[in-house]
Amino acid sequence: MIADNLQRLKEKINSTCLSVGREPHDVKLVAVSKYFGINTITEAAGLGVTDFGENKAQELRDKYKILGDKVKWHFIGTLQRNKVKYVVNSSLLIHSVDSKILAEEINRQAEKEDKIQKILLEVKTSGEESKSGLGNNEQVFKLAEDCRKLKNIQFIGLMTMAPFTDDERLIRKSFSDLRKLKDELNQHGNNLTELSMGMTSDFEIAISEGSTIVRIGSAIFGPRDYSKDWRDS
Ligand SMILES: *Cc1c(COP(=O)(O)O)cnc(C)c1O
Repeated sequence: MIADNLQRLKEKINSTCLSVGREPHDVKLVAVSKYFGINTITEAAGLGVTDFGENKAQELRDKYKILGDKVKWHFIGTLQRNKVKYVVNSSLLIHSVDSKILAEEINRQAEKEDKIQKILLEVKTSGEESKSGLGNNEQVFKLAEDCRKLKNIQFIGLMTMAPFTDDERLIRKSFSDLRKLKDELNQHGNNLTELSMGMTSDFEIAISEGSTIVRIGSAIFGPRDYSKDWRDS
């Protein structure tokens, strides 16, 4: 099932890229493997998937203990300061930085690990109370400035989640707002290359608005069973 899903997804990513004049290899696929077990991840890796996304610190820590650097890991979830240590050793990229204290703790742990941690700032383009992320552009500019002073952090782009709606215009606006914000930050001395936006339901819109990283779970692995632990699946 994963093989068919992947094939179909890659075809859609490719055709979307071509239809908007982009190169398919400019869009990185992060397979969101939360709630799925080691066998599922290994199966996807065997089919050529290189990058996996997790949204819980302990789950990433435990999967990393088993799989290590056989695949590349991305942390995409809400991160508490006391759990930063579980994700810095494993993550190629942390997508969800939204406060100065979090950035400082990532910097501290990265220094311990003797690495430069790549990060994205998460922006709440939807205005939805339930979502995390920086609430306005001013906060993003300020945190970008703070990040520049942290030597073990490399700030390379922005991440967002579109609003929960069927209204395609609102989804598109949330993605185009993120792209504009990245351009603005780059006009003010940043050197951002990445836009992490687009999930199963909206990756085509995201790609057409300039996404460089799509985070896709259910289109690859099928629906998640939230009543189950990843160890049992
Ligand atoms: C779960 C999750 C995804 C993937 O969602 P799907 O709809 O299954 O593709 C993407 N981004 C974040 C932050 C997530 O938590």
